[in-house]
Amino acid sequence: MINTQNEMLKTAQELIEKTGQKLNLTPEEIDFIIQPDRIIEVKVPIKMDNGIIKTFVGFRSQHNNVLGPYKGGIRFHQNVSREEVIALSTLMTLKCAANNLPFGGSKGGVIVNPKELNETELENLSRSYAKAIAPFIGEDVDVPAPDVNTDGKIMMWMLDEYEKTIDKKSPATFTGKPVEFGGSLGRTEATGRGGVIVMENLLRKLNKNYQTIAVQGFGNVGYYFAQIAYEEGYKIVALSDSKGGIYNEKGLNPEEVMKIKEETGSVINYKDGKVTSNEELLELPVDILVPAALENVITKDNASQIQAKVIIEMANGPITEEAYPILEGKGIISAPDILANGGGVTVSYFEWLQNKHNEHWTEEEVNQKLEEQQTIAFSEIYQISQEFKTDLKEAAFISALKKIVKK
Ligand code: NAD
Repeated sequence: MINTQNEMLKTAQELIEKTGQKLNLTPEEIDFIIQPDRIIEVKVPIKMDNGIIKTFVGFRSQHNNVLGPYKGGIRFHQNVSREEVIALSTLMTLKCAANNLPFGGSKGGVIVNPKELNETELENLSRSYAKAIAPFIGEDVDVPAPDVNTDGKIMMWMLDEYEKTIDKKSPATFTGKPVEFGGSLGRTEATGRGGVIVMENLLRKLNKNYQTIAVQGFGNVGYYFAQIAYEEGYKIVALSDSKGGIYNEKGLNPEEVMKIKEETGSVINYKDGKVTSNEELLELPVDILVPAALENVITKDNASQIQAKVIIEMANGPITEEAYPILEGKGIISAPDILANGGGVTVSYFEWLQNKHNEHWTEEEVNQKLEEQQTIAFSEIYQISQEFKTDLKEAAFISALKKIVKK
């Protein structure tokens, strides 16, 4: 796993280097951007239910705050490492910049398998980590959010502990909170909704009336992407989760498939369709492919089999570097992750704004502002791709770096 994480960091840094060269940055300027501002490593002791004190290790990487306070999630996972948080914080810097958010990038994590903790121990862990990083965060300094294995409830525990530590209210310091505790309406659907907005912008530019969609991953992102696209009139022909997928060329209703997933544990038990594997799903004859589960699913080994004409990267890093040129050779256009899945962090920004100004926006307002924000980000990136004669991924990096270095 360490290797994969080193690989992720290397890839992020190489992309910055390549993009920086296109912008005529000097090696020193590139190096300045690549190096994280600071990496905080903390001890996270907690009292376990059996009375013993167990000590975990946590990190917070604050990569760059040229555009505003650092912003990034906190994950609880056994594979968290220093390299991983640096890589992810670097990508957050680029994602916030590409989406025109007044934030820099950060990421945090604790090395732990949260499935081995009970609810009280999980709360103790969340509070202990929040206390440890409290001197380094704040609504105008660094604003955490949920990530892998953390959620709104964990953000509430962390915020409560943080506010106790600093002895004042500061709800804007954590985003991704439940709505009744200052979270924003529309946040749950935001990443999926943002992906649909980016897809529609892309189809308009391409002047294509593509209709059929296969979605890999039926969690938060995949479900809302599929459901919102379905409501917009697209035909969702395949859906999958970790157990496999379901395919029906006549179209699926995501809400009905979700009911079966909730009742039986998987979409594969949905009766009205053919069961497919996750690998087969990627190669189906569809117009639009939406990887919304894991990284590195489209590789040099399967890229030549992809039949979709457009890929909307909803997961982080679903396409490997080696697969990109193969897809390009086939004329397949990908909307890159830092743009396509930027809806989540964009609505986190709206939550931060609402908390800071003590406002409560309606869901309609949130959705409308999300549409505006992502349409502008898309147009800028599309424009750059034309100007620099490059793909949307590199264009997204160029768009982000231009803002960071003001070139
Ligand atoms: P989630 O845990 O809610 O859902 C993940 C889904 O993927 C589940 O349906 C799971 O069954 C499925 N899955 C797991 N292993 C799989 C496999 N091998 N093949 C196919 N499907 C598999 O997670 P999520 O929040 O929907 O996030 C999905 C992706 O989107 C991740 O890459 C995440 O980093 C990225 N992302 C999420 C957000 C957000 O706001 N939630 C924002 C930006 C990026």
